[in-house]
Amino acid sequence: MSGRPPEGEERAPRAEAPPSGGADPGGAERRAPAGGPPTDAKGRRLADLVLRNAGELVTMTRPAREGLGVLADGALAAYRGTVVWVGREADLAGEVGLAADAVELDAQGACVLPGFVDCHTHAVFAGERAAEYGERLAGVSYLELLQRGGGIRLTVEATRAASEQQLAALTARRLDSFLAHGTTTVEVKSGYGLSAEDEAKQLRAATVPHPVRRSLTFCGAHFVPPEYEGRADDYVESVCGEQLSACAPLAEWCDVFCDEGAFTVAQARRVLEAAREHGLGLRLHAEELAHTGAATLGAELGCASADHLILATVGDMAALRAAGTVAVLLPGTSYTLHAGYAPARAFLDAGVVVALASDFNPGSSYCENMQMVISLACQELRLTPDEALWAATAGGAAALRLTGQVGVLTPGAACDLIVLDAATRAELPYHYGVNLVDGVVVGGRTAEAGA
Ligand SMILES: [Zn+2]
Repeated sequence: MSGRPPEGEERAPRAEAPPSGGADPGGAERRAPAGGPPTDAKGRRLADLVLRNAGELVTMTRPAREGLGVLADGALAAYRGTVVWVGREADLAGEVGLAADAVELDAQGACVLPGFVDCHTHAVFAGERAAEYGERLAGVSYLELLQRGGGIRLTVEATRAASEQQLAALTARRLDSFLAHGTTTVEVKSGYGLSAEDEAKQLRAATVPHPVRRSLTFCGAHFVPPEYEGRADDYVESVCGEQLSACAPLAEWCDVFCDEGAFTVAQARRVLEAAREHGLGLRLHAEELAHTGAATLGAELGCASADHLILATVGDMAALRAAGTVAVLLPGTSYTLHAGYAPARAFLDAGVVVALASDFNPGSSYCENMQMVISLACQELRLTPDEALWAATAGGAAALRLTGQVGVLTPGAACDLIVLDAATRAELPYHYGVNLVDGVVVGGRTAEAGA
């Protein structure tokens, strides 16, 4: 991608707020004046950013079976961070006028997509666990690691010991990597602090200034910390009491790890109902390690998403569909743990909305790259390339209740896009294990990692 910055001004790569809703730790909200986007003297849409010469402009305005809404020889215009026009290159000059400080980007025939929406990550933590990876491959069980203070216990200890500033710096570096791989919106969970003070510290660290948009989730019910060992119900009361009081003002969502060895369905219900009273939206980890009934609970409570779902049944799928709960599938975790993969085709056949996410975390999926997730989804979940691309963009937006705001390139949506080093979207799953993202725009501004 080649770009022409405005004369004498380097724009700071800072995110604008989504059109509505969503956490916006990075920047102040700016809207087009009331009465719609402004026009120039000739009555054309005014733009302060245009992207031209997209060989393939993938708008995600249509489902995969209808081809995703792809424009050949496409162009796009944005004003103050919001898309105001999408069409063919040939119509751009007649329909769009440029503001004095407008930036023009030339995609040079490449494929252009909405930025990825990674709707399930645990991106705020301290602690190094690379050594455990080799040990686990050599046959050391996760239980053994836990018993000697490894696994998630190590992450909890290091996260508690870290200052908010240290966590923020670690998070910013990870956000650089998300951005460099094309992710422009990321959900971030707490869940390694496990006390009111340390969970709140994690959530504040997650708001570190950075172009990547964030949607924050309180996940105090992630693991029973050592000081509550054998007293999970007492810990749940702490989550529902002082932790929720401290964290609800800092988050949009509440999540519970409801599974064998984690929290029971009854405990998850207690936490999620308390979170709802605090005004949080709900989501949960469900049916990953054992079939517990978590997915049914998620549907009953109207959760925005149920995540993992490796062991989901046909009955679970019907319940999730009826509830409008998005199935968030995390193939990177199955890959890392040598576990089974979720029955993705059955979910699609059942009419459930499917999203893909990285589950980025230091134990079971240490990968910020949604391109890798898309490739795994095609290879192991048997999604078509178009189904996987939709699930990684518009699907992620649906899981975060941001449909129409991110994960799509249409007037009114945030101008968050990626330019590939490829002429066609089919290269994303096919040319795997490399970074095919050549340029990223967030909120109508070119964004660079480390800026
Ligand atoms: Zn998770």
